[in-house]
Amino acid sequence: MEFAVDDATRRRLEEARELGEKEFRPAGIEADRNDAPIPVGHPFFDRCLARGEGRTRWRGTNPKPGDAPAPRSTVATLLLAEELAYWDRGVIISTPGPGLPEQSVLGVGTEEQKEKYLGPFLAPDKPRWACFAMTEPGAGSDAAAIRTSAKPDGDGWILNGAKCFIGGASRSDWILVQATLDPTKGRAAQRAFFVERGTPGLGGFKIEKKMGLKAYESTSFTLENVRVPAANLLGGEARTERKAGFKAAMQTFNAGRPVIAANAVGMARAALDESIRFAREHELLARDRVRDRIEAMARKVRKARLVCLRAGWLADQQRANIVEASMSKALAAQVAQEATGLGLELVGVAGGRGDHLIEKLYRDAKAMDIVEGTGQIQRMIIARKLVGLPR
Ligand SMILES: Cc1cc2nc3c(=O)[nH]c(=O)nc-3n(C[C@H](O)[C@H](O)[C@H](O)COP(=O)(O)OP(=O)(O)OC[C@H]3O[C@@H](n4cnc5c(N)ncnc54)[C@H](O)[C@@H]3O)c2cc1C
Repeated sequence: MEFAVDDATRRRLEEARELGEKEFRPAGIEADRNDAPIPVGHPFFDRCLARGEGRTRWRGTNPKPGDAPAPRSTVATLLLAEELAYWDRGVIISTPGPGLPEQSVLGVGTEEQKEKYLGPFLAPDKPRWACFAMTEPGAGSDAAAIRTSAKPDGDGWILNGAKCFIGGASRSDWILVQATLDPTKGRAAQRAFFVERGTPGLGGFKIEKKMGLKAYESTSFTLENVRVPAANLLGGEARTERKAGFKAAMQTFNAGRPVIAANAVGMARAALDESIRFAREHELLARDRVRDRIEAMARKVRKARLVCLRAGWLADQQRANIVEASMSKALAAQVAQEATGLGLELVGVAGGRGDHLIEKLYRDAKAMDIVEGTGQIQRMIIARKLVGLPR
């Protein structure tokens, strides 16, 4: 295995460190204290755009040099994801860009869909967002159980249903909505549809209350007789092809798991550094038991980081990494919870006041075990792959 990065990535990591300290950490703390996501008009987002963030990885129909950021290795992506999450994971998700659905559009979208939905993210004129809506009040881990329906209607589709906890939904230019053509047929009947902001019937946006990661909005909404043209079906008219349905959604999650793991490693590192700083300041390091626990935690963080980078390295080699991707997420999310829990114990009463960085990290870390497949689901995937159980 080789985790070496080139000079350009090293420079990016250095920039990420400076940006994280100067912008991400303060913005995350501000949102946490306000108990509200960073508002759309916040100058933080304009500064993101000015730095060239918020763009798509798609290179356009007639790519010219400099049109879009150069592709980078998965290992480099994971190192950057770790570094930025060290400063604030919620702020990373709040930043503008095509977000979670970009991978599905790149993978199975038609050229017209890439042009229409990713085109505005090539050189965005203003902060723009997009999001992916799978989860429903009655369907989380069991994504095959979604009930949002899509019924053919002339040359289009009518969508009905409700989605919840969708990142950035109320501010998104478009939402990639996962729906079913027939709920009795499970995952084989699922398809994804582009629903643009302002489409009649799309509404009821409600920003959910969250225990952590408050910098970005997690929003529920409803679809009531929402009519979309046939061209809005991800992958085009290939209505019988499964590739544009459940499989595309799962590919998005598979690719995202090591990134979530890298985020969790960054948060665990932040908690560990903060714990050591606090223990030093309060002369706790003279106690063997405190030193032992910090040392054991540092080993776990290192282990989680290596499993995560291995998942990324396998992806870079174009090799299967489903087991490693799930292992990295299951392990790193747990380590982040342990590391922040240890920090909270060390800071004692200061952690109970609700204004200590460790206390915020503790609340932020829990979501890493939930998003994009809970810890239990990751363990089921790993076990299935290892012992060959049927699905
Ligand atoms: C901060 C945050 C952001 C999110 N962003 C998005 C988003 O942008 N888009 C989106 O579509 N969704 C999003 N979600 C939703 C997320 O994907 C779901 O919360 C997740 O899939 C779990 O579903 P659930 O909450 O309904 O829990 P449930 O599925 O009801 O699970 C409850 C508990 O049961 C366990 N469990 C469930 N099934 C099994 C099983 N078969 N075996 C063993 N244990 C099991 C779970 O692990 C969990 O511990 C977000 C969630 C959070 C917290």
